[in-house]
Amino acid sequence: MRKLLQLKLHWQVLIALALAVLVGTLTREFAGDYQPQLLAGYKFTGSLFINALKMLIVPLITASIITGVANIGKKASIGRLGGKTMLYYMATSLVAIFVGLLMVNLINPGVINGQLAKDVIHLPGDASQILQNAQVRQPADILNLFKDMIPANIFAAAADNGQLIGLIFFCLLFGFFMTRITAKYASTMKNLWQAIFEIMMRITSLVMKFTPIGVFALVAGIVTTSGPEVFKLLIWFILTVLAALLIHFLVVLPLVLRFIARVNPWRHYQAMAPALLTAFSTASSAATLPVTLECVEKNAGVSNKITSFTVPLGTTINMDGTALFECVAVIFIAQAYGVPLSFAAQFIIVFIALLTSIGVAAVPQASLVAIVVIMKKFDIPDEGIVLILAVDRFLDMCRTSVNVFSDSCGAVVIGRSEGEKKILLG
Ligand code: ASP
Repeated sequence: MRKLLQLKLHWQVLIALALAVLVGTLTREFAGDYQPQLLAGYKFTGSLFINALKMLIVPLITASIITGVANIGKKASIGRLGGKTMLYYMATSLVAIFVGLLMVNLINPGVINGQLAKDVIHLPGDASQILQNAQVRQPADILNLFKDMIPANIFAAAADNGQLIGLIFFCLLFGFFMTRITAKYASTMKNLWQAIFEIMMRITSLVMKFTPIGVFALVAGIVTTSGPEVFKLLIWFILTVLAALLIHFLVVLPLVLRFIARVNPWRHYQAMAPALLTAFSTASSAATLPVTLECVEKNAGVSNKITSFTVPLGTTINMDGTALFECVAVIFIAQAYGVPLSFAAQFIIVFIALLTSIGVAAVPQASLVAIVVIMKKFDIPDEGIVLILAVDRFLDMCRTSVNVFSDSCGAVVIGRSEGEKKILLG
């Protein structure tokens, strides 16, 4: 046991993950009458872990952005950093969507042995909640997503996990003006927020020690409840999404690290492993944020100044995996229902997937609503969302890891472009 605890955190988490798959399968197949109790135990432990992570989010984002912006200081530097960061987010999300578009057109998973997938796959599932939420968010609203940036009440924005962008915007302003007040007060505030940030990072380190237990409980619960049958039915759709995500994760982003940031991609994977595994298990980039911050700063060596500005921002608005998934899912459902999509239509889907991925909340299965919104725009029957519901949780785990990895690469690219030398080099 002691040997196990001495292993690096990512190895502990990997072992926990493998055990969870094994124990979850055993629970599903052999636990009989005890299954509900075991499942309740997994869910209880899993939610303790997720709550512990979520508890950190608001104070961590607040302290991190305020200290980050205050450390950047000059107006021109903030503008330059902000510009570079947005450029990275847009460019990588766009490439991700194009990879998805290419794969879904090549594999054509909506047609199975010459038949429309909707006639072959019959899955039970209740999409009413998603459809209702999509009703509230009309297509015309997409451009309005930005209105969340200026919340009427910052406490309400902070209380809603999906609206962190409002809190971030306020903290950017707060950090900016904090350095423009009388020097005496400015330094008091700087010390205060820096201290809060350091305390939050200490608590994060403590929570991270429990990651193997949290990951075990979360994954064992998911494996217990989802049998392999639906996976077989939707195998081509799953393979399309996974292939596209893997290309982005194993080819595109490493190329960015290698040739733009001039960093060793392999060492960056190692540095980010705990965050990637946490993202995989929680399916929430927001819940993973504390771990991402810790890994980017402590393991990958990006300065606090850059990390605390780019990582929380990226968590909320940079979602490469989500953008890619939205595009693949919409086109898959259109194929499955035999709805033709012209080249121009697909091009518009790319654009809307980019915009909506910015607005999607960093919580589990948040992109489903965005997918229905896009489907409505192209007269794709919205009950088609049921086709992907059964496997969405698993695919969400995968796309969230890609979202988090892209945020971390963003921090490295920006850090290197600012001349940082401590980042893991090739
Ligand atoms: N679960 C994703 C995230 O937190 C969002 C989504 O694609 O549903 O990054």
